[in-house]
Amino acid sequence: MIAQELQERIRENWQQVQADVAAAAQQSGREPASVAIVGVSKYVDAETTAALFDAGCPILGENRPQALWQKAEHFQQRKLADPQVGLPSWHLIGHMQRNKTKRTIPLVDLIHSVDSLRLLQAIAEQAERLEHDVAVLIEVNVSDESNKTGLAPSDAESVLMESLKWQPIQVRGLMAMAGWGTDTDVARRQFAKLRALRDRFRASSGLPLPELSMGMSGDYREAIAEGATIVRIGSRLFEGVPRV
Ligand SMILES: *Cc1c(COP(=O)(O)O)cnc(C)c1O
Repeated sequence: MIAQELQERIRENWQQVQADVAAAAQQSGREPASVAIVGVSKYVDAETTAALFDAGCPILGENRPQALWQKAEHFQQRKLADPQVGLPSWHLIGHMQRNKTKRTIPLVDLIHSVDSLRLLQAIAEQAERLEHDVAVLIEVNVSDESNKTGLAPSDAESVLMESLKWQPIQVRGLMAMAGWGTDTDVARRQFAKLRALRDRFRASSGLPLPELSMGMSGDYREAIAEGATIVRIGSRLFEGVPRV
């Protein structure tokens, strides 16, 4: 168990973030329910992650597959001890090596970070073997920095087209991160670029591509103004909580 006051602080942070996200949606003329919040729990241990879930955050995101496996296991154990407690919806938001697909696919509801053709193919082959459908987003580099993660737009389109050949894979949309240290105006233009790409890919693939995963603690307002349907928020949720 974690200390009562930490639990309380996490609950306050979660409520504040929810209120801020709802306000940002309303300012953009959008329904608050049209923006999902992924609570990014990579900064804290499994018990502190459980405190965020218990505070009411139903979707949890991890950027490393192994950390996600460990925490998913922790939640399973918790449920064995107390069948009343629920389980979170897990999202993988960071890079995955191809040899991690087998264990990850059965645990996650959405993989945000398909960043190569080879990874898409590995996920698809594994999904066929496991007879398990997989929902994914394609990660795009919209920041024009050579060192950022994500695919160049033309490569992202090739991956999207490849996905059409694989029955168990469903591409639900696109994901991006604003360039490291960019100010919010620049971030907003990058988010607008991701939305425009999504609109183009919709036309070329015929897929609905409803999801735009963009916006983190520092820039989620801009992302929501540009149409984010999923924001990935970590630091804001763990303010005042020691990182481990
Ligand atoms: C860590 C991380 C986040 C959350 O970032 P914060 O600035 O802490 O909110 C979002 N997306 C990805 C891919 C991350 O790795």
